[in-house]
Amino acid sequence: MKKSSNFKDYKKEIMGAARDDRLRLALSRSIRSFRANIKDALEKFPHTIDMAEEVLEIKEKAIGEMEKLAWQAIAAIEENKGKGYIAKTADEALKIISDIVGEGKLIVKGKSMTGEEIGLREHLEEHGNEVYETDLGEFIIQQMGSRPMHITSPAIHVPREDVARLFSKVIGQELPPDSDIAKMVAVAREFLREKFFRADIGISGANVVAAETGTLYIIENEGNIRLATGAPPVHIALVGMEKLVPTIGDANKVSEVTWRYANYTVPSYVTLVSGPSKTGDIEKVTTYGAHGPREFHVIFLDAGRTELAKHPRLRQALYCLRCGGCLYECPVFAVTAGHFGDKYFAGIGAVWAAIISEDMEKAASIAYTCLTCGRCKQRCPVKIDVPEMIIELRRLLAESD
Ligand code: SF4
Repeated sequence: MKKSSNFKDYKKEIMGAARDDRLRLALSRSIRSFRANIKDALEKFPHTIDMAEEVLEIKEKAIGEMEKLAWQAIAAIEENKGKGYIAKTADEALKIISDIVGEGKLIVKGKSMTGEEIGLREHLEEHGNEVYETDLGEFIIQQMGSRPMHITSPAIHVPREDVARLFSKVIGQELPPDSDIAKMVAVAREFLREKFFRADIGISGANVVAAETGTLYIIENEGNIRLATGAPPVHIALVGMEKLVPTIGDANKVSEVTWRYANYTVPSYVTLVSGPSKTGDIEKVTTYGAHGPREFHVIFLDAGRTELAKHPRLRQALYCLRCGGCLYECPVFAVTAGHFGDKYFAGIGAVWAAIISEDMEKAASIAYTCLTCGRCKQRCPVKIDVPEMIIELRRLLAESD
């Protein structure tokens, strides 16, 4: 997936973002409330800090054996009558998903950075499918024709007044700019409700996968994941291989640390999926597709991850839990949002741009925008040393000239 972006375009984009008062307004509101919430969450559950150290050990080991864990997970999923795949490249993943989906389908989709990485929604739409993002932030972004600006809060840069204007257009009924946020949420709920039950296919990612049982853990608050992975007859999950850990015990720890550092004392829902829906209630005959999906497909995406795992310093990028906490500490992100980064935001995005997207110009742009101040490392539960990676990347870039 070799790409080349233009430094001038990046500079224009990032300078434009830095001058955007509405963007700063939306970001400052979010940063204030995130910092208060995470302080509260860690004070209530102080054991999380020690657990994060255990999680780092789990991830360090798991990253070195991703492929083995993926095969182990596939064997467990298939024993449960699901279907597992390893996609070596983004194109391979898109083909596997296209072959399952076909054309002319209605698809409800949960938030997935991996889906964003490979351009999944656009690909499915190009093949004549109707796709709805169901996470509220992603839904806003999709309706705006924009792209996410944060890992866990994709519409972080959109103030409520803009959401009111957007939803007025979507539902064809005027919502005043000072509308109550609860009213806006209700509008989205009503719009998406029937889509969940009419959909042919639900697509999700996963926060962590336990290889021993092939169990996907999906953390959320809205309830859209429960519906998207439970209501349609087919569930497809696209998961980066770095999300695999050996056991259920490991996955429990990774999940708890992820949601706590994502600023939640506890999320409303953690969905665990290990296979298709089944029942044996009539004469003990196992039948697939009871109330939930009768088909369950999991695609583990490599796309450069096993290469990245071999690099002694840059491999840390794969430890990332995607809690998004670092972004609220990063001084550059505070004025530019997701314009600073590639598919993955802030300094760590430079590593993804270089190794996963193979876009060296984009990687250089991000690497030289990062201040190497290390505020992200301080907040990071698994202590990813972004300044160390950035310095290493600058060295590699200089050597490749
Ligand atoms: S080191 Fe870079 S990515 Fe990390 S907080 Fe500082 S500017 Fe942001």
